[in-house]
Amino acid sequence: MSDANEMELKILDFLKLNGKSTALRISKEIGPDKPTVNRHLYNLEIKHQVFKINEMPPVWDLMEKGNEVKQTPKPEQTSPTTRDTHEEKDVKDLLRSGGLKAHLIASELGQPTKTIKKQLYSMEKEGKVQKCAKTSIWTLNEEDSNGSYTQERDYRLGSNSGLSQSFDEITKLAEGGFGCVYKVKHIYDGKIYAVKKVDLIEKADSEVKALARLDHPHIVRYITCWSDSENCTSTREGSKVSNIKTYLFIQMEFCEGGTLTTWIKDRNLTNKQRNEEDILKIFYEIISGVEYIHSNKLIHRDLKPDNILFSSDGRVKIGDFGLVVAQTTDSGDPIERSKRRGTPPYMSPEQENKKDYDEKTDIFPLGLIWFEMLWKISTGMERVKLWPDLRNQRFPDGFCDVYTIENKFIKEMLSFTPEDRPHAKDMKEKLEMFFSLDQNLLSQKTI
Ligand code: ATP
Ligand code: MG
Repeated sequence: MSDANEMELKILDFLKLNGKSTALRISKEIGPDKPTVNRHLYNLEIKHQVFKINEMPPVWDLMEKGNEVKQTPKPEQTSPTTRDTHEEKDVKDLLRSGGLKAHLIASELGQPTKTIKKQLYSMEKEGKVQKCAKTSIWTLNEEDSNGSYTQERDYRLGSNSGLSQSFDEITKLAEGGFGCVYKVKHIYDGKIYAVKKVDLIEKADSEVKALARLDHPHIVRYITCWSDSENCTSTREGSKVSNIKTYLFIQMEFCEGGTLTTWIKDRNLTNKQRNEEDILKIFYEIISGVEYIHSNKLIHRDLKPDNILFSSDGRVKIGDFGLVVAQTTDSGDPIERSKRRGTPPYMSPEQENKKDYDEKTDIFPLGLIWFEMLWKISTGMERVKLWPDLRNQRFPDGFCDVYTIENKFIKEMLSFTPEDRPHAKDMKEKLEMFFSLDQNLLSQKTI
């Protein structure tokens, strides 16, 4: 066996045993440096054995759990029954909070929809779940839905806080350096919400202050917030140290339709059609939300598909105001910004290098996002090659011919000089004019 094959098998084994992971973690656990692991991961992606879940940093998972099983010598991991039980448990845990469509289960579990559908149909045969023919929503059958309820209540959020006593944690939607986002169910009103838990450090409240101020159909709706302390233990020089950490909990509407990342990935990984009218409507809603943010004298600074969500009826909801800042000081002077805050692939050139950028920094990523919605990027490798060109207003062959008007707009949005980029307000007006958008189209369902 070649070294490359051996390394790829090691990576597949690692993912199988530990679940999804980043290249950094894989590299730490199995030895080779991160670039080597990354190279093998991209090779495995081309071979359709792994896929990426997030972009920054990419989280990798097995394309079809069990593909690599045939090659691994560990018998306890190879039985299909073990594999099914594990995946079945994840699906059941999600459905305990209520019915969900297959693509949402897939997006929450970071799996391809096809895999989840297969799983659901096999669970249906065993009488564990059922599908509503009208709505395509999957629910757990009674016996299974009661099964682990007591266990779930043990996972309550911030058990010290009065307010958090009111929720059941249903599932962790995301976890990062900042904290976590949970999908929760209110014990009394029975409604589902999203709760973001962030370290309560200086300026952590700017996110919540911005959200509380904004009230727009295309901005995630804020409900309330509270702080809570937790006792954390860490090991320092061999001995356990205990300290109290305070978190801020931000309760928001739950966006059931998932993120734009999932929407794009869904179309990149499958042959699912991209409906131009839907794309235009989504983009128009994004621009409307951004126009509103800018009209409130704020800059979002982290616009990217991960931070663009959909409600259950498919409406765009811009989220993650973790980097929001005011456009000027109270006296109207420009504010000196911290450099390089944001997400590098989507960051405007001036946000990367300068300290005195304005709201036009939000327009640059919108150009990239519109392109990504229109154009299929099949592999990570293709994306790696295409991205620097795109950021420099160079488009793949054929794009300008197929999307002549869009190409013109996107090019303008990707201008290196912020002054050459359109304002969100002008962009919105131009879209209405060029594409003859009317309120009927805009009130239709998107996804
Ligand atoms: P940071 O503030 O450090 O940038 P982050 O990017 O990790 O944090 P968010 O973008 O707010 O935090 O949330 C992370 C993920 O959690 C989102 O990409 C989305 O998948 C999910 N999420 C966040 N808010 C909601 C919501 N209101 N409804 C549904 N899912 C959500
Ligand atoms: Mg985010």
